[in-house]
Amino acid sequence: MDIPKNHPRYESLILREKVKECLKQGILSEVGVAAHGRGEAFDYLLGEKTSLEAKRSIKAAAIMLCEAKNPVISVNGNTACLVPKEVVELSKIVPLKIEINLFYRTKEREEKIKERLENHGALDVLGVGESASENIPGLESMRGRVSKEGIFSSDVIIVPLEDGDRALALKNMGKKIITVDINPISRTSMCSDISIADNIVRVMPALIEEVKKFKSRETEKDFKFDNNENIKKTIELMRSNLLDYQKNIKER
Ligand code: ATP
Ligand code: MG
Repeated sequence: MDIPKNHPRYESLILREKVKECLKQGILSEVGVAAHGRGEAFDYLLGEKTSLEAKRSIKAAAIMLCEAKNPVISVNGNTACLVPKEVVELSKIVPLKIEINLFYRTKEREEKIKERLENHGALDVLGVGESASENIPGLESMRGRVSKEGIFSSDVIIVPLEDGDRALALKNMGKKIITVDINPISRTSMCSDISIADNIVRVMPALIEEVKKFKSRETEKDFKFDNNENIKKTIELMRSNLLDYQKNIKER
């Protein structure tokens, strides 16, 4: 579909086209489309831009990833659909391992996501077929399958758009969890060590930039981050954006 560039929701509509395409290709599950819609609603409340709080959490995430011993990015259908190129770039500069981890795991979808990542330059993609031979304790087998050298033995894991149960199960394994979830009040955001409440399409390029800054020692040495405080401020921002909308109605 041709979307006019001056459409007020241009970016958002372009993403919908991508989602539609990935659903057709079998990369995204139908449920993944619903999750995308929930994300869009929260983006409205953020004014569709990266907040100061999100920027701080992205910087904290870059530091944590670069200081980890065995960092891993967990990739699901939505992530593979929206930011495949950025996932691969991040994996090369940190460096970190890429592992496919699906809520609705099928061999076919694993393979398709692997192929999409490889088409964007990924060399080694974990979590496909026999590679996912370990289990996250507390989850039934299909949802909990992970690879030994990847998520199972990782110390820091970045889990974009993750379900609350799985995020919590990983936390209970003693892992440090970084999440990208535009909903600051999801169970995932609430249980993570670093919760990035922003759209993944804006987060990934910013995270790559912050990793580069950290690597070239441009990040301030005394940078402090309090995740609970950050979530509270994000909720406050959404509240104040809503109040602005309300005010505009009265003054019209
Ligand atoms: P929880 O189980 O953690 O309470 P949930 O069940 O709502 O949350 P899921 O639907 O399983 O979570 O996961 C999808 C999450 O990802 C949603 O919170 C949704 O807002 C968020 N999300 C969807 N699209 C994006 C996106 N493009 N960028 C960032 N977050 C997104
Ligand atoms: Mg859930």
